[in-house]
Amino acid sequence: MVEIPKSHPRYLSLKTREKIKQAMKKGLVHETGLIAHGRGEAFDYLIGEKTIPSAEEAEKVAASTLICAENPVISVNGNVVALTAKEIIELAEIIPAKLEVNLFHRSEKRIENLILELKKQGAKKVYGASANAQISSLEHNRSLCDKEGIYSADVVLVPLEDGDRCEALKAMGKSVIAIDLNPLSRTARTADITIVDNVIRAIPNISKWVKKLKNEDIETLNNMVKSWNNNKMLRDVSSFISKRLNSLF
Ligand code: ATP
Repeated sequence: MVEIPKSHPRYLSLKTREKIKQAMKKGLVHETGLIAHGRGEAFDYLIGEKTIPSAEEAEKVAASTLICAENPVISVNGNVVALTAKEIIELAEIIPAKLEVNLFHRSEKRIENLILELKKQGAKKVYGASANAQISSLEHNRSLCDKEGIYSADVVLVPLEDGDRCEALKAMGKSVIAIDLNPLSRTARTADITIVDNVIRAIPNISKWVKKLKNEDIETLNNMVKSWNNNKMLRDVSSFISKRLNSLF
């Protein structure tokens, strides 16, 4: 493990890279996860590495959607476990929601490693090993999922998803909440609710909103969900980024 001095101006970013690197060495993160992380970092720079108002709003609506759901599932991959394992376990507990390991580059070994890691960090039950169902219209291993998990979920929270799978989940009639720092990605444009924020900030923020909204009446929460306009939010993010860039130089 490389020692990074706390005084370094990019301390948090470097620590995060180190976490991803170590997780790759432990067989949790796929090599391409490093590339996906790099793309995320670039977009995080553009928004100023902070939760922007549109993301805060999306996190609030995501919390309402998860509270109102009948069978909510949180889909996790290697990067999510590397960066926010404890926080995602807490979120699943307070909603409550099921946790399922679901991988683009699926290998039985990595599924097993990720399930073990989540259990080590406190998760009681983690779906994903049995792979007894398939997400329709997707080819190969990445369509595999659990009948009692993602397959039968009404709401799926997919931090760091790829566009194809997001579209396929939508085509199955599920409500999809995505966390993606890239507002231009197909995932961001396909999901019902897109949170343009770093998973590291987004997950604890959704938990904060779940705690605040848990005792609200269902009708109020449902109205909040129904009135959400994801395209408007993406336009707001784009305008936020343009204004920010124009004001920098
Ligand atoms: P799409 O298929 O949706 O157009 P893509 O092919 O770019 O997207 P991936 O290559 O799977 O999708 O990349 C994953 C996405 O996750 C990237 O868009 C990246 O911005 C985002 N991302 C990476 N790290 C983080 C992070 N820590 N927090 C939030 N988003 C992240």
